[in-house]
Amino acid sequence: MSKYVVLDRDGVINVDLFDYVLDTKDFKFEKGSFDALIKLAENDFKIIVATNQKCINLGLISAEGIEEINDFWVSQVTEVGVSVKSVEVCPHRDEEMCNCRKPETGLLENAERKHNINLKDSYFVGDKLSDVECALRHGCKPILVETGYGLRSIAERGHRENLIIVKNLAAAVEMIINET
Ligand SMILES: [Mg+2]
Ligand SMILES: [Zn+2]
Repeated sequence: MSKYVVLDRDGVINVDLFDYVLDTKDFKFEKGSFDALIKLAENDFKIIVATNQKCINLGLISAEGIEEINDFWVSQVTEVGVSVKSVEVCPHRDEEMCNCRKPETGLLENAERKHNINLKDSYFVGDKLSDVECALRHGCKPILVETGYGLRSIAERGHRENLIIVKNLAAAVEMIINET
């Protein structure tokens, strides 16, 4: 059976601009994340990306524009053997009350349906508490990184004392590989 890791995108794989990534030129891999993805592949992990992109329904970019940006980075990592099974995107704004904007779990359910897989018990690496919450609701194991919104999330994590916190995706991958 294949092993999966769920990853948030902005602030985990690429540098969070604290604004939207609306162009391929704004997509910059976080330090060490490219090699971390390779390391996951070398250890037979496949990747599901779950990303909130309300910029679509805010009218800042089309769904195709977001797809183009994702094709841009996914093709780079695919070339070096990384298996990104899918990039699940929520285009909705908060007030649309969809079932896929994290912390809702719809993106994970979409991926499960699409690939006939089960993501429960998989690690889920994110930089926001909405990632952590989504992971917990779905039965995934959350890892919070310090990159992106991470430091802010750590400060705001409240009662979640037992949360696994690591420096970045590279450190998260190190942990995941040593645990499994
Ligand atoms: Mg993020
Ligand atoms: Zn949604």
